[in-house]
Amino acid sequence: MGDGRADPRRRVPRTDALLAEPRLATAAVSLGRDRVKAAVRQAQDRARRGEIDPEQVRDAALAALPAATPRAVLNATGVLLHTNLGRAALSDAAVTAMVAAAGHTDVELDLHTGRRARRGRDALDALAAAVPSAGAVHVVNNGAAALVLAATALAADAEIVVSRGELVEIGDGFRLPDLLTSTGARLREVGTTNRSTLADYAAAVGPRTGFVLKVHPSNFRITGFTSAVPVRRLADLGVPVVVDIGSGLLAPDPLLPDEPDAASTLRAGAALVTASGDKLLGGPQAGLLLGRAELVERLRRHPLARALRVDKLTLAALAATLGDPVTPTRSALHADPAALRDRTERLRDAVAADGHKIEVVPSVAVVGGGGAPGVELESWALSLPERYAAALRTGEPPVLGRVAHGRLLLDLRCVPPHADAAVRAAVLAVPGDD
Ligand SMILES: *Cc1c(COP(=O)(O)O)cnc(C)c1O
Repeated sequence: MGDGRADPRRRVPRTDALLAEPRLATAAVSLGRDRVKAAVRQAQDRARRGEIDPEQVRDAALAALPAATPRAVLNATGVLLHTNLGRAALSDAAVTAMVAAAGHTDVELDLHTGRRARRGRDALDALAAAVPSAGAVHVVNNGAAALVLAATALAADAEIVVSRGELVEIGDGFRLPDLLTSTGARLREVGTTNRSTLADYAAAVGPRTGFVLKVHPSNFRITGFTSAVPVRRLADLGVPVVVDIGSGLLAPDPLLPDEPDAASTLRAGAALVTASGDKLLGGPQAGLLLGRAELVERLRRHPLARALRVDKLTLAALAATLGDPVTPTRSALHADPAALRDRTERLRDAVAADGHKIEVVPSVAVVGGGGAPGVELESWALSLPERYAAALRTGEPPVLGRVAHGRLLLDLRCVPPHADAAVRAAVLAVPGDD
């Protein structure tokens, strides 16, 4: 037949060369070498049949493989804790700890004695050390699980006294009152949406009371003619006060003066505090329980506690987060606006040279994800034509901004500085207008 050197089948890349290509090699790590090899063979066959060019074999193999999920994205939304983006990003220390914990570990073994040991003692000790006003601590799957455990162990067949202003929807259609009553506890609602007084609580508390619950309005604000009763005064009612502080701040943060923290809430007289691990604490998804030793012990020994037990990966990440609290969340919260402006301007200069229409504008970042509603963090953003939104979202890596008034805003507050180059490359990769 024809000239062998011109035969495209001769130019089909070899299997080992293809498997060494960075993107296929990465895919082999997550999907397994056999699966990637099969995709490579199929693509080679298509090239030999003349269906695709030999130069397209690598891309055809990649296209035949499922995209790795979840995909890492760059959060340029200016929302620190974005529920759709997985809330808190873990610190490097937490990631390293999780990887180390993935194999067999001493999670429930004392290597010195060879005997069984308290599960997750590193994480629990670190949590107790971070909040000395807690008599004891316990960790479950998430904030909702912490509340369910408290309601089940302390108020099944009893009443939970709670203000009508605090019967909130957490998100995605899930509502706290439904969660609480699903345990068998009854709600005794007091006050009104905007105002509840100590007298309202006092009139409702009685022999049927399991506990008084106070829920931090973490994702909304009621302003105007309002009144709520502080924990300090509820603590005098003679029944346990359970406080759902939501965001997982362990100690006060001067930037968030209205956000309750576990230490201050316990000192004010709360018997038990519940919180999430993946909000302002900046750790893994977890439910933190801190409070009086005898109450925490009742929760810990309740049969339901076994069903809400956290896995070893979570415990490892939580211990590391507590050990080195400079998390991505904290860095984003405390980022200096002048430094953010500087980074944003450098980014603009780098992409403006390529003819992209782009400018630096003031931006307002928020905590989001159930924390510090109404707090506005001064920030800066790159402003781009709106059409960039879809292109950046579907690029590699995906870059998520926020669209406002027909412009795409990229706020670098939640982008780690080492990822600025990736944002720059992503913007430059979007084809220009003409
Ligand atoms: C976020 C939040 C919850 C739910 O916590 P998860 O960890 O998402 O289960 C409950 N209460 C309050 C006040 C919250 O902010």
